[in-house]
Order: sequence, then structure tokens, then C-alpha cells
Amino acid sequence: MAARAGFTSALAAELAADVLERFLRYVRVDTQAAYRVTGRPSTEKQLDLSRMLVAELRASGLEDAELNEGLSVFATLPGDVDAPVVGLISHVDTTPDVPGGGVAPIVHEGWAGEPIVLPGDPRQVLDPSRLPALAKRVGHDIVTSDGTTLLGADDKAGIAEIMAAVAYLAAHPERPRAPIRVAFTVDEEVGRGAEAFDLDEFGADVAYTLDGADLGELEIETFSAKSIRVTIRGHSVHPGTAKGKLVNAVKLAADLVASLPRDRLSPETTEDREGYIHPHRISGGTEETVVEFIARDHDDELLEEHVALVRTLAEQVEQREPRAHVEVEVRDNYRNMRRFIDENPRVVEAALEAIRRAGVEPTLAITRGGTDGAVLSSQGLPTPNLFTGGQEYHSVREWASVQDMAAAAATIVELAGVWAES
Ligand SMILES: [Zn+2]
Repeated sequence: MAARAGFTSALAAELAADVLERFLRYVRVDTQAAYRVTGRPSTEKQLDLSRMLVAELRASGLEDAELNEGLSVFATLPGDVDAPVVGLISHVDTTPDVPGGGVAPIVHEGWAGEPIVLPGDPRQVLDPSRLPALAKRVGHDIVTSDGTTLLGADDKAGIAEIMAAVAYLAAHPERPRAPIRVAFTVDEEVGRGAEAFDLDEFGADVAYTLDGADLGELEIETFSAKSIRVTIRGHSVHPGTAKGKLVNAVKLAADLVASLPRDRLSPETTEDREGYIHPHRISGGTEETVVEFIARDHDDELLEEHVALVRTLAEQVEQREPRAHVEVEVRDNYRNMRRFIDENPRVVEAALEAIRRAGVEPTLAITRGGTDGAVLSSQGLPTPNLFTGGQEYHSVREWASVQDMAAAAATIVELAGVWAES
């Protein structure tokens, strides 16, 4: 590839064409997950990409590549030194929140800095005056969808980067490298990515999800998360004869939601490490109404306080209307991975060094969400989240810089080298 703008290292420039070719191929495969499906995978079509990846991994020389019973693709790239086994993880599925089928990627080569109007829906414009990350990437090759679907950089950028990196490592046996284990999971976007993930079979000592965003970022903190389900049982009576008898669960549920703080503790009023209580779904009728909340915080004690607040507000509903019956159920979703990662500082140091060797200034970041890595970290496999170069996730304006994706692939190659030295 000619000397185009923005490549962070010679290795990144060398990997760019392969990363892009793979990325354009993978995003065309519809792998949209679905909510509220009890079976797994939530959609069979996710496995179309999984099977494609198994074949490609084998073609690259990772001969044991397989789609296993936990519905993850696992594969091994043996190391040539006795070093910790490094896991690399991405997810094949895309979010159900935005149309995800029939993705038609567009490469805006050597983007000159003008607003990018997406041709499939000209109302969708990527305006650099509103997107600071985009504004910094004049001269890059920018990949978008046509504006009618998501792009799928979340997380096919991560997949393309891992695939290109392991293919490169397999073709360059002269480079010292730690043993690598690859995993591509399903249903991450519906919160079930780490389900049935067999850590023993995976056999990694440390791991990284490739599921982050901005160039050079390593995410080492997630939220801790719980879900809360409040069931309000009233007493339904025909409205014609309801006087003094009807207890309307719909109104009680509305009171409960209205009693939440207005100017704090919500996703729309908080940032950075601030947590929240987020009512995201109400269903039911006069007899019974269910309000579903998610509670999030980086601090486990504050998270408990958020849960306690919902319990208190729910009790107050019952106090105001003793004929109603209110039930609160709380479920753990995932925990902030920071404490588990802090127990193994080398996992962070090695990644920061690999990012530097790829020609990028690394930064530590927090995420206001969860990752597969948060679940795996709490189960004993420290798994911070590396950048992929994708941006504006879960929208039809999702975009990715080829130069940043190449930097991520180069980071993975360097990471194998850094771990080989330990
Ligand atoms: Zn993702």
C-alpha cells in the first residue's frame, strides 16, 4: 500500500489492506442478535459468520479452529516460547437496536474533511463539526454504511483485526510470540456473550476483548450492573362498578417511575463514573404492571444504594396503597472488572507497551457499559478491552477509520511479542 496518511507504524500500514478486505467481507454477513429469545444463539444467522471464520482461521494455519458447544469459535496459534497464553476475544453479533441486515459498506478514501452524507438516507450526515473524533481523521480512509443500516464495526472491526493479526503472525514465524487463543462469541449485544464460555477449554492466562473504540484506548473499568424487576399487583374491577374497589397497577407504576430523582441518577443526566437507575420497560395492565430497571455504577457500594433506593420507593407505593402488592426482584448482571485486573497489573502494562510499539500514545479509559471481559474477569480471567477504531456504535452513522483499525491489528501483533518477552 502506498504511503497514505495516518498510519501509525510500518506494521500498521502493512496490515491495513488485509484488515479492510476482511472487514468489508464480514460486515456484509447479517449477524444481528435478537432480544427476548430464550434459545441460544438468539439468531441462527450469527453462526454464518462464525463458520466463515473457522474456515478462514484454518486456511491461515490455525488448524484446531472450531465452533464449540458454547457457540464460540476457538482457535490456537501456538507460541514459540514458554510464555503466558494470551486470549483475544471479539463478538460476531450486532445490536438489535438498529437495522443490521444488507449492510452496504462505503470506503471514503483519503477523506478530505467535508461532512459525509450517507447516500441511502441523506438525512444521515457525519458532520466533523459535531464529531470531534472524526474531525481528527482528515486524510484517513473512513468506512461507513449507506445510512440505512448500522455498519457493524461493533464488533467486526475487532474480528477483522484479530483475524489479520493472527494470519500475519502465522505467516511470520520468525517473530517471537506468546501462544495465542482466539475466541469469537455470539449474543454479546443481548448480554449473553460470556454465557457457556468454557474458561478451562479456552485455556488463556490473560485475555483482551477487541471491542473498544478510540485509537489507543485500553478500558480497564466497566460498570457493575444489576437488573431490578418491580411487579405491582393491583385489583382490577370493571370501571362501571369500580368505585372504592379498583386498585390500578398502571397508576401505581407511573407513581413509582415519577418518584425517581429527576436531575440525577439517570443515564441522561450522568457521565464518567456516575451511576444511575434506569427504568427501561413497563408492561402490564390495571391488575398487574411490571417495571424493569437497570442499575449501574462503577462503585459496588453505590450500586447497592441505587438498588436500596428502588426498594424504598417500591415500599412507599405499598404504603400509600396498602391494598396493592409490590414485589422487587434483583439480578446480578456483571461487575466492574477493575479489581480483577488490578490483581494482575502485567495485563495492563503489556497492552500499553504494545500500543506504544504500534506507534500510538496509549490512554486508560473507563466504559459506561459492560463487556464480555467484565464477566470473564470476575470469573478469573483478567480481560481488559482494547480499542478497535470503530465509532458511533449502535447507530446508522457508525464509522471506522482504516488507519485506526490497522493500528489495532498492529497492536495485537506487538502484544504477542510483548508477552513473549515475559
Ligand atoms: Zn461490542
